[in-house]
Amino acid sequence: MDNDLVDVVFVRDTAALAAICTEVGDGTLLVCNSCGDIEALIAGVLIIDDAKEAWVLCAACIRKLSFEGTVV
Ligand SMILES: [Zn+2]
Repeated sequence: MDNDLVDVVFVRDTAALAAICTEVGDGTLLVCNSCGDIEALIAGVLIIDDAKEAWVLCAACIRKLSFEGTVV
């Protein structure tokens, strides 16, 4: 097991969220990366390792997760 640390930023601000959605998706439909429920409303985006990866998450999945990191 290595000790590489990964920066994780959790974004819940709606304005920032909209900007990220435009960048990572087509800006219209985003599906929760965790449960894949297309009906679920996206409630936050988890930016992993300087935006190399971004996970969109619905409210239900966010509640299920526990984060260590910065909540914006
Ligand atoms: Zn979900």
